[in-house]
Amino acid sequence: MILQKIGIDTNSLPIPSEEFDTRVWSLTTSGSFTVASSLDLIRDHFPKVPWSKWVWKACIHPRLSYQVWKILNGSCATDDIIKKCGVQLASRCVFCECQEEEIDHIIWTCRFSMEIWDWIHNLFHLQRGQDFIEILKKASSQSEAVSQAWSVAIMSVMVELWYARNRAVYDGTKPTYAKIKARVLNCISSSSCRIKGMMFNSTNDLVLLTNIGIGARPVKSFSIKYCRWFPPPTHVTKICCDGAARGNPGQAGAGIIIRDHNSSTLATIAMGLGNCSNFTAEVAAILLGIEWAVENHKVNIWVVSDSMAAIKAFKDNKIPWFARNRWNSVKNLFQQMKFSHSFREVNFAADALAKQGSFLPSGQIISSNGRLETLAIENPDQTYYRLI
Ligand SMILES: [Zn+2]
Repeated sequence: MILQKIGIDTNSLPIPSEEFDTRVWSLTTSGSFTVASSLDLIRDHFPKVPWSKWVWKACIHPRLSYQVWKILNGSCATDDIIKKCGVQLASRCVFCECQEEEIDHIIWTCRFSMEIWDWIHNLFHLQRGQDFIEILKKASSQSEAVSQAWSVAIMSVMVELWYARNRAVYDGTKPTYAKIKARVLNCISSSSCRIKGMMFNSTNDLVLLTNIGIGARPVKSFSIKYCRWFPPPTHVTKICCDGAARGNPGQAGAGIIIRDHNSSTLATIAMGLGNCSNFTAEVAAILLGIEWAVENHKVNIWVVSDSMAAIKAFKDNKIPWFARNRWNSVKNLFQQMKFSHSFREVNFAADALAKQGSFLPSGQIISSNGRLETLAIENPDQTYYRLI
């Protein structure tokens, strides 16, 4: 009555959950408090630097990553930095003795350093790159093992150049190519236990990895898996769901295709979800599919998604807190509800709808009753292939 008096339509209000109220920590998807999420809440956030994901990797020893971080962050006490602090000094690069000292010169552009860079590129038979990310990307078409060894190699070159500069400045030790190269090779071979990637089945990979002291690594072999799309049993409705986000998080969409035991398409749905993570989009797609089943009085359903994590969340009843009320209000309305994971090779119709949804404004739905002419759907009589 009070709500009606002040002009609020009570029908438009969300239905309260039948479950007891629970306390939710909104910073985690599970709703449970974690120290990491609270630290993330109170710490200062700065824009991410483009090289951060390249520096911290399991194949790189943290001590090496830390030194590289210092170099890239401009946190090394080079003459130009000291001068900026108001200290007057005569500055000269200890390697070439031609230019004033600054970190970019020491690591990348000094002719002494360039000689070391040429050597390491030749050792890996790679084309010469100029800066950190460009050099790292030179090994992107190589095997995982070579690419990991390359990351270690270039980071140890950077750090060894910096150490050589320090030895020259503070101990008066003259830098030599031979010493730096030996230390770089030693650093690469001692990282051997951290390099877990596989190599290509080629002599080039074997010779290279042996030469740099890492040795042979297992060879990746591909196999073909056969996949089929199965129609549901009689009286069961199959709901194939997919969520897609362009970026993680990014503009996301949900796609659902509902089919019966004759494989006929009952409905298709594409919905814009706004900015969210891949996982949230997958969960939202499954919920949308289940809600469609409630509205259309389907009591026996088989929900399929290519997201293992989302299927597991529903199977274990561990739904992210923001979707829990919606889930609680529908979960008991079915006689039979089965969840299963499928490969994306046999879930491509939902995938196409999810991609379409990711281009829609948040909340907008494009749905059809029956099959869309423009949408390719899985054929139960056809075998699909998955390369693993
Ligand atoms: Zn120089």
